[in-house]
Amino acid sequence: MAFKPLTRRAFIKRNSLTGFGVALAPSVLTTIPAPAASATVLLAAPTVHSAAEPLALLGGKPLRAKDWPTWPIWKPETDEKRLLDVIRSGVWSRANVVTEFEEKWAATVGAKRCLSVVNGTNALIAALAQYNIRGGDEVLVPPYTFIGTVAPVLATGAMPVFVDVDPETFQIDPAKIEAKITPRTRAIIPVHILGLPANMTKILPIAKKHNLIVIEDACQAHLAEINRQKVGTFGDAGCFSFQNSKNLAIGEGGAIVSNNDAFMDRCFSYHNYGNPYGTVSGVIGIGTLIQGTKLRLTEYQAAIGLALLQRLDTETSTRNENAAYLKAKIRSIPGIVPYKLYDDVTRAAFHLFPFRFQQKAFKGLSRELFLKALTAEGIPCSKGYATLNNMPYLNDAFRSKNYQKMYPKEMLDFKGYVERNQCPQNDRLCNEEAVWLTQNMLLGSRQDMDDIASAIEKIYTQADKLLATK
Ligand SMILES: *Cc1c(COP(=O)(O)O)cnc(C)c1O
Repeated sequence: MAFKPLTRRAFIKRNSLTGFGVALAPSVLTTIPAPAASATVLLAAPTVHSAAEPLALLGGKPLRAKDWPTWPIWKPETDEKRLLDVIRSGVWSRANVVTEFEEKWAATVGAKRCLSVVNGTNALIAALAQYNIRGGDEVLVPPYTFIGTVAPVLATGAMPVFVDVDPETFQIDPAKIEAKITPRTRAIIPVHILGLPANMTKILPIAKKHNLIVIEDACQAHLAEINRQKVGTFGDAGCFSFQNSKNLAIGEGGAIVSNNDAFMDRCFSYHNYGNPYGTVSGVIGIGTLIQGTKLRLTEYQAAIGLALLQRLDTETSTRNENAAYLKAKIRSIPGIVPYKLYDDVTRAAFHLFPFRFQQKAFKGLSRELFLKALTAEGIPCSKGYATLNNMPYLNDAFRSKNYQKMYPKEMLDFKGYVERNQCPQNDRLCNEEAVWLTQNMLLGSRQDMDDIASAIEKIYTQADKLLATK
């Protein structure tokens, strides 16, 4: 589906055309007579519920009792045969099924090459190492991400430098990149966080101008697109994760994609002890060329990946459709600001559905209480990431012998580091505003999305009651 959600203004206009200019005051939804309300107010028929029903957190009946779609999805009829064949064959270490999975993943995202590895974290470590990122270098990263983006930078001995985010999109803010570039800066890791594409259109020219390696962290962004090109294929390398929660789930697993043959040959060697490109598992005594490690995927993991890959495209469409629908429904609720996508995004992955919660519009209700109340209504939700740019793991690295040898003292002073790496927009997202719904919820029905919107609205209309009982 081409992805053009209505602007807020267009939505209000569209809904006022029906004769009820109530989009700005969703509480009206529950107070005007039912027949009129069900006909017009929101894009779809509103869920039947009563504003008079007390909040579940205050002892009322939860708005929703039904379960959400579980994740991962496994269908024995279609998914099991290949896996059983592999298990019965006794060929479990890397062989043909892994190669087939790599070829399919490369074709799926539109990259020349793909190498599978044990997880997304090690995909990033391998990519950084094979672009020769080492001690003494700096790597630009966003603070709004999973630790799995930053730990790989430290693993190479390089110094992570945090670039603040654009709170509207939750992505690294291209306007803040150049100020962070120093003579040590060698690479940037744009993260397509939450499965929403980062602004590659702006990031790539900046990287080019400063001669930076671009390694995309697409660990949450399977099949997301900018101008119909899949993310992970814009930079010098793209890294994916197939961990259990991810949109393509294997349990554990990862991949590097790139069009750079020499780089991909080196990544292959690295993932197999540094032995020559193409050497198969179990071969010994052939001469080791580069410093490597062992990151090989197993045949049964690849069989699981191939099975789930068959549904990924359809599931991604469902997530996009439900996300657009839910976004259109909740954006009119005061204090609820859903994610924005950049104009050239043609598809997102929606590993998560994020919105910002603005306490003021909810009469001062804390995000913590909002999350509790929403969960109590039968809508599981969370606050998401904590700030990554000031945690002790950084100082632990800085105190190591290798860092002490590779960087001047001033760079390793933790207080000074935290000061230089402040990201106030990220602080606000992490500490005050971000709310997440998980991708499996977006695999549900329209009715499921209606439930989410109705529950948020129920809390909005009764926020004062929550405050009174605090
Ligand atoms: C999951 C994830 C990783 C790491 O992938 P693993 O397979 O869990 O090692 C890295 N970056 C981001 C943004 C992720 O979501």
